[in-house]
Amino acid sequence: MAASKDYYDILGVNRDADAKTIKRAFLKLARQLHPDVSNEPNAEEKFKEVNEAYSVLSDEKRRANYDQFGNPDGPSGFGGDYVDMSDIFGGFGMDDLFSSFFGGMGGSAGARSVRTRGRDMGLNLHITLEEAACGCTKTVAYDRLAPCDDCGGTGVGEGGKVTACDHCQGTGRVVTVQQTILGQMKTQTTCPECGGTGKAVEGACETCGGQGRTPSRETVEVKIPAGIHSGQSIRIKGRGEAGVRGEVAGDLVVTISVSEHEHFQRQGDDLYYILKIDAFEAMVGITHTIAGILADEKVEVVVPAGCQYGQQLVIARYGMPRLHSSARGNLIIAVEVSVPVDLTDEQVQLVRSLLEQQKSQAKEAVQVDDDSDDEMDMDTATSAFRRPFGKKKRPRKGHRK
Ligand SMILES: [Zn+2]
Ligand SMILES: [Zn+2]
Repeated sequence: MAASKDYYDILGVNRDADAKTIKRAFLKLARQLHPDVSNEPNAEEKFKEVNEAYSVLSDEKRRANYDQFGNPDGPSGFGGDYVDMSDIFGGFGMDDLFSSFFGGMGGSAGARSVRTRGRDMGLNLHITLEEAACGCTKTVAYDRLAPCDDCGGTGVGEGGKVTACDHCQGTGRVVTVQQTILGQMKTQTTCPECGGTGKAVEGACETCGGQGRTPSRETVEVKIPAGIHSGQSIRIKGRGEAGVRGEVAGDLVVTISVSEHEHFQRQGDDLYYILKIDAFEAMVGITHTIAGILADEKVEVVVPAGCQYGQQLVIARYGMPRLHSSARGNLIIAVEVSVPVDLTDEQVQLVRSLLEQQKSQAKEAVQVDDDSDDEMDMDTATSAFRRPFGKKKRPRKGHRK
């Protein structure tokens, strides 16, 4: 995106033009230049230019950046806490917006199917695990066909009026009769001229060309409840594509995608956390304080003496809040024990003497109690660790049956 282009020149407006003027100028040009309707050479290229100019000048922040720095992204990339411009899926880019805008009504093609109700639109919204845990409200900018400001969505210009559609005499349906070998076949279809509304506009609004809707950059507030999961969506009624001339609008469906967290791994409403300690800490036990998933939450993790590699410590109700509930999942600490490798000579001596002591103790124990089944917890612990994020498993301390 070259910053040297003069976006105001491209749209043919003054530098102090207001939002409405800019939009009107843009729509007028777009209607002349859209590749679907224009025969002009370079129409596509010009259309792109006009589109780019509008995408900057219709956005308050980008326009201000452009005015001040000659660059819509500001002096150095994106500035501050700008609203999310999320991925739009379901075939809605600016191009689709224009195809709907130009193809929807009054197009030249005869038999194209006409839809007057607005379509549902989809948006992808990325949030962090912290945001999913406490719930949040996000302001999202997106492009849609919105009711036309200038005619209030009716499609009727000043001094114009709504009349009955000539093509279907106001019924909204047309009947075609075909001669076949079985006789006459009558088929009833939606009127292609009025899209089934039975209405036509005399003296259409110039801004929207009589459609009652225009491509617009809008913002919407999305309230995200605490405990939401990736893939769940929030439906906002009437904020999808506007209908033709005031017909029912579609909905906006915002699908949430929760990013991976640096420390926590989510499994349902439970959170897993890998706590790294060394062998000495594992032998004698240690207490660690870690940051919980909610803001300013501190969690005390008590690692018991003799903790094994892979042992899981369950801390109840410190996991993710459950959606639409006051309950919370658990926090599961998987302990990862490492062996220190940088011992001093003195420490090596100490450990050796401990080892000697332990060996002689073990000998005594064997002599005293030979049929002990206290073989080791190790097996349970190790296998538990191999699937710390698998099925919910809460290994208990003690013996296997
Ligand atoms: Zn009609
Ligand atoms: Zn209008």
